[in-house]
Amino acid sequence: MTDLLANLNPEQLAAVTLPAEPALILAGAGSGKTRVLTTRIAWLIQTGQVSPAGLLAVTFTNKAAKEMLARLTAMLPINTRGMWVGTFHGLCNRMLRAHFRDAGLPQGFQILDTQDQQSAIKRLLKSLNVDDEKYPPRTVQNFINSAKEQGLRPDKVEAHDPFNRRLVELYVAYDAQCQREGVVDFAELLLRCYELLTFNAAIRDHYQRRFSHILVDEFQDTNVLQYAWLKLLAGHGHNAAGPQPNAVFAVGDDDQSIYAFRGANVGNMTDFEREFQVRHMIKLEQNYRSHGNILDTANHLISHNARRLGKDLRTDAGHGEPVRVYQAGSDALEAGWMVEEIKDLIAGGMLRSEIALLYRSNAQSRIIEHALFSSGIPYRVYGGLRFFERAEVKHALAYLQLLENPENDSAFGRVVNFPARGIGARSIEQLQDAARMANCPLFRAVAYVPGKAGTSLGNFARLIEQMRADTRHMTLPETVEHVIHASGLIAHYQSEKEGQDRIENLQELVTAAQAFVGEEGYRLDAPAFALPLRDGDAAPALPADGEAVIVDDAITAEMTPIVAFLTHASLESGDNQAQVGQDAVQMMTVHAAKGLEFNVVFITGLEEGLFPHENSMLDPGGLEEERRLMYVAITRARQRLYMSFAQSRMLHGQTRYHIRSRFFDELPEHTLKWLTPQQQSYAQQRIGTGGSSSGGWGRDWFKRPDETGYTGTKPTGGMDTGNGYADAKRSEKTGFRVGQSVFHNKFGEGKIVALEGEGADARAQIKFKRHDTKWLALGIAKLDPID
Ligand code: ATP
Ligand code: MG
Repeated sequence: MTDLLANLNPEQLAAVTLPAEPALILAGAGSGKTRVLTTRIAWLIQTGQVSPAGLLAVTFTNKAAKEMLARLTAMLPINTRGMWVGTFHGLCNRMLRAHFRDAGLPQGFQILDTQDQQSAIKRLLKSLNVDDEKYPPRTVQNFINSAKEQGLRPDKVEAHDPFNRRLVELYVAYDAQCQREGVVDFAELLLRCYELLTFNAAIRDHYQRRFSHILVDEFQDTNVLQYAWLKLLAGHGHNAAGPQPNAVFAVGDDDQSIYAFRGANVGNMTDFEREFQVRHMIKLEQNYRSHGNILDTANHLISHNARRLGKDLRTDAGHGEPVRVYQAGSDALEAGWMVEEIKDLIAGGMLRSEIALLYRSNAQSRIIEHALFSSGIPYRVYGGLRFFERAEVKHALAYLQLLENPENDSAFGRVVNFPARGIGARSIEQLQDAARMANCPLFRAVAYVPGKAGTSLGNFARLIEQMRADTRHMTLPETVEHVIHASGLIAHYQSEKEGQDRIENLQELVTAAQAFVGEEGYRLDAPAFALPLRDGDAAPALPADGEAVIVDDAITAEMTPIVAFLTHASLESGDNQAQVGQDAVQMMTVHAAKGLEFNVVFITGLEEGLFPHENSMLDPGGLEEERRLMYVAITRARQRLYMSFAQSRMLHGQTRYHIRSRFFDELPEHTLKWLTPQQQSYAQQRIGTGGSSSGGWGRDWFKRPDETGYTGTKPTGGMDTGNGYADAKRSEKTGFRVGQSVFHNKFGEGKIVALEGEGADARAQIKFKRHDTKWLALGIAKLDPID
């Protein structure tokens, strides 16, 4: 027992060994919150206070859940299988799988990721003839998700004007569509599970009795609904006359609250303290992660926030290296510089997986990926353009969805004519009309479509039936292998000149399925592989209300391998993307980096409008959240921290000219080392030269080729947007313009979506009709304008 507790400081030890009562550990980054939480689990088990099955632990990401399980097994010889460790979504999914009938869901319900949800909404708007200019799918999506995140079904949403009333109607229609198709979006997972526990006393009692210890990491970022869900599980307020609520052990850091935009509520911390009458509040103030300079930088930055609960962090680790700051002429040069630094680090013996590249928005990753790829440095992107989101992979997943449930309209719509089978828009409209009239899924409506369209649709339906029959007794990897061929996907991409990558991705999907089945860790959400397949035994019936024992681990029988795999694909944030086990540089957004740590961290794109993000700038609350985000970014680093920014950046098809982030003005000078001559500060650039802000920051900037080799030109217009950046198109420099249609003799027809650079460096990004979007060097590629 001493072993477990040996390396804790007195405050940590006190926290780990608290009695089984509500507790809140409030502490800064790197102070050992996650370690305390994990050690407490081990300690509770080791001292016999609880069995692994009596614990529920909530982590912020799947990656964190896996790490926690790995650490636990290293500490104790326990079987973690019966333990519930996962994200809110993962845990709710698990509960809903076990009780799908009580939750009013079909067995094998499928999960819509954010992108799928958006297409489902687009489809809905179309079928209802809703003007999508007035009701953009994004708006509808946000409206629905934010209502669900507050726990509000349509009848509880207040709508005072016609616009909002219409949104509520769309919410109703959307829910009906999901129910009909047997799909569940992310927000619904939580809400449905919350309702299950609220309305089903037997299930609620069962879990309340089961989970005597509930532990929550990153508590500051729970939203209203998640907190309410926790309260239900804890038995708080429900059996007031009964025993004490279960012990909730929450750890968090108000300075790292970065999900307010998604409804996270720091107020949950104070509510928790009050509502659970928390007697045990422990602060941890020693940081074990970062060297002094890194920590000072973080502390100094966050002291600019007014709204803080207040706490300090110190370290015994010594000052360490200064924080390195780099200014680049362009995003490409910034990426090039990073690659050189990374090569040096690797040559010096640094593990690639100990190097993290962080950025504020996913869109920034492409250019970095490109630079890493060109230099042959393996990397892995978490979040963002994930493996499972690539078009060809989504096509294959759609076929798998149809094997599982042919009545899934969104999967049906995605692949009915992919690869092309002569089923045109007109036939699909006919089919949709028929489905509406008969009020049935598209798959069943096929029978009602007459003529030629009916024949081709019938062929497709038979293809699906045939695949279902053929794969009935296959293992998951065999099924995937079969599907990518039988669907015609492989043949389709073989006939494409540039299809090789896509074929490799499809083959990678088979590998992913193998890894999924083989890897114990994945069994967390899907321990169903040894069991009968799709059409096999029915799941054990669960008792309705009453005192019967509920076999919650019946989940093992509920999910078929395909459903488990699809669930994994929608819940996992790209963990499978790089080859499993390969040492790779880690790339992710700052949001995704929360809770993680690396020896070396690069924070890139530190520019006004980007970080802090332009959307946050009008509102002081928004700016404080960006500052917390920056605090999270800085505190990920153990030994070495780099910060960089670029004067020009290609984003969303346009070159934007930026000034450096205001956060540089909020950092202590003594901890920083500028690798390039220091630029004017944000404040000087805004007001220094008096009068107009654009006149102030622009002048020398664009003319002078700087040390990094940048030879930028003055933007052609729209300099002052008030956000400190400007957009410009460089049409006259290249002879081409954005939006122009062009012809390339290998790739065919395409449209220019972006232009960059000039002279020998000029490049165009072109969206080709029959190929991927590509960057081509204008000096080399032969492009003929079409219009
Ligand atoms: P964050 O707020 O970023 O999530 P955290 O508070 O959860 O950070 P941990 O990740 O638990 O911090 O710990 C940070 C690092 O410090 C880890 O590498 C951990 O192993 C180490 N650490 C924590 N406590 C101690 C200790 N008492 N002795 C040595 N190392 C420690
Ligand atoms: Mg942590």
